[in-house]
Amino acid sequence: MICQLPVVVHTPVHSQVAGPLTYLSPVDLPAGSLVRIPLGKREMMGVVWDSSGEDASFAIDPKKLRPIAGALEGIAPLSKAWRKLVSFAAHYYQRSLGEVALAALPPQLRDLNTLQLERRLKKHAKGANPAPSAPESAIFSVALTAEQSSAIDRFNAEPGPFLLFGTTGSGKTEVYLRCVEQLLAHTPEAQAMVMVPEINLTPQLEERFMARFGPIYGEHAVVSMHSGMTPAQRLKSWLAAHSGAARIVLGTRMAVFASMPNLKLIIVDEEHDPSYKQQEGARYSARDLAVYRGRLEEAKVMLGSATPSLESWHHSRPVAEGGRYVRLEMPSRVGANATLPLVRRVDMNHQPKKCVFAPPLLDAITQRIAKGEQSMVFLNRRGYAPVLHCADCDWKSECPHCSAFRVFHKIDRTLRCHHCGFTERVPRACPACGNPDIAPLGRGTERLEEHLAELLVNVRRPNSVSEQWPEGEPVRIARIDADTTKLKGELESQLARVHSGEVDVLVGTQMIAKGHDFRRITLVAAVNPDNALFSSDFRAPERLFSLLMQAAGRAGRDAEVSGHSEMWVQTFHPAHPLFEALKRHDYPAFAAGQLKEREQAAMPPFSYQALVRAEAHTQEVAQGFLTAASAAVATMPGAEAIAQALFIFPAVPMSMQRIANIERAQMLIESSSRVALQRFLADWQAVLHATRLQPEGKGLIRWAIDVDPLAI
Ligand code: ADP
Ligand code: ZN
Ligand code: ZN
Repeated sequence: MICQLPVVVHTPVHSQVAGPLTYLSPVDLPAGSLVRIPLGKREMMGVVWDSSGEDASFAIDPKKLRPIAGALEGIAPLSKAWRKLVSFAAHYYQRSLGEVALAALPPQLRDLNTLQLERRLKKHAKGANPAPSAPESAIFSVALTAEQSSAIDRFNAEPGPFLLFGTTGSGKTEVYLRCVEQLLAHTPEAQAMVMVPEINLTPQLEERFMARFGPIYGEHAVVSMHSGMTPAQRLKSWLAAHSGAARIVLGTRMAVFASMPNLKLIIVDEEHDPSYKQQEGARYSARDLAVYRGRLEEAKVMLGSATPSLESWHHSRPVAEGGRYVRLEMPSRVGANATLPLVRRVDMNHQPKKCVFAPPLLDAITQRIAKGEQSMVFLNRRGYAPVLHCADCDWKSECPHCSAFRVFHKIDRTLRCHHCGFTERVPRACPACGNPDIAPLGRGTERLEEHLAELLVNVRRPNSVSEQWPEGEPVRIARIDADTTKLKGELESQLARVHSGEVDVLVGTQMIAKGHDFRRITLVAAVNPDNALFSSDFRAPERLFSLLMQAAGRAGRDAEVSGHSEMWVQTFHPAHPLFEALKRHDYPAFAAGQLKEREQAAMPPFSYQALVRAEAHTQEVAQGFLTAASAAVATMPGAEAIAQALFIFPAVPMSMQRIANIERAQMLIESSSRVALQRFLADWQAVLHATRLQPEGKGLIRWAIDVDPLAI
């Protein structure tokens, strides 16, 4: 007997085809099976899909059907829940099923042929030890705080989803560990997923989970999933999760698609972090998908943050007001006398002109050094200076390929574009007028570090009377940003130097502001955070507030020193409500103010948005395509209802208008109804595809839809 199988595949040629293709098979394979199929002249991986349901398969003349090339034996079919998750994500984010399904699998699974894979599987089967079963009672060293206990009690008593609103240092990680611990101890085979925003944070988390669960369940019980792993490691983790051998999966946003047959708990740490949103291909929000997946698989979901996204905060309002999430609050830091750092605003209007470090801040840093304590200074801009400038003719170091300046990196004397990567040696003289006196404008972390070293040149560290430095050693400043941590292992070794106390002052970008459990830092300073106050992006204040709260959270994490820990903010707008709320560590007040503004302006979470972006060699073509697609809405069935349910804004250049010589434009679509927006986008896809074939689509390089965009 020959069966017809619907199979989802990913190929650019078929990216317009949203549903599965039909193949012949000598045996009926269950949905979720992995198969190799021929497509054109190539052979590739596909997933057998459900023959009924919303993902209608693509009708082909039965005589033209081709047989599958082979089935991957030894890997159990992907579950119905997994297929539903993929199908939902594809529909919601307006991408093809095949693209989402195949992108959700580890690269080696897609790329290795059947024979290679079988060899790999055999190897893993040999390596995997059976997990020891849970002991009767696990031993834990710490006693929970009252706030932790009550959060866990409520977590146990209610179905959720939960928003764990816990201040920095309140012990959220301990709550996650306990929730996972309970689950694994009471439900044989149950699996848990824990997501973190940054790869940088996974090793730390892995260490804590491994220390807690390795001795009980074996070292294979905890696996990681993130893009920093080798393809072989990723396959190994994926197989362990898929087979059920891994009880805990730790990962970045990609982990949300991990195949886990017994998933019972999903934790999303730092749920507000923008990196949960994928920025290319299917632009999904891993946090939102986690909530959906939890409902789908009856797994409990806990989102955690000290500064939740306004969306999640709004969802966790009281049930009587329409809330859907259960808010669990942990307002205090762990430790009897632990307090949050004192926030000090330095009014830069009253400081010496052009000073980078206000004298009182410099004083405070110097005092910390004298006491053997650490300070952290952060600035969200790497490189030496953002622009190189000629005062004679006003030449600036523009990137010839982008609408951006090339950044001056002093260390290798280059001008580098942070958007397209275009790099040149710094010219000896102004390329426009020959003036040899070209100067850096503004300041990045590299220059900040250099400047601070000059300012602290006469300061000495305590307890270091050595022959070489009879008056005490010079201050040690370290810088951590994307430039100093390019090589594997560099970030870890630099962090280790900070933790061991070798460093007195740490300078860096937001990389150092997030998550790290520094124990000796008692002063954190944001030297120039004002830009975000006046950004055209309505989410900029939300991001700034959470970044500053996070940064403040790095200070005084040890209860012993928390009493005199401080967060310094240098600003020209000290009375700004954002800083007022920060001073009081009052996220709820900040959120209330922001939500009120959003409600008045009918912005998310009070409305729903999608962006359609277009790229072409000229701005005219990019915008022309969008405008034509917008005009074509009038010819769609139900055009009147569409016009009532949503608003399509005019096409405009993106704020980064040109990258690598490609012009970028975007068009915003807004609706007060998520359903109406979804329905419209699904219908409009065909119009966009058709517009591309019209004269208006000539010269267009690509277009894409971004649902619930984070940056407008
Ligand atoms: P958060 O993630 O909320 O910022 P962490 O989970 O990193 O906080 O906890 C902050 C510090 O407090 C960590 O060093 C952690 O080991 C410690 N800690 C957490 N819970 C307890 C507890 N119940 N008793 C003692 N120390 C704790
Ligand atoms: Zn460039
Ligand atoms: Zn010049």
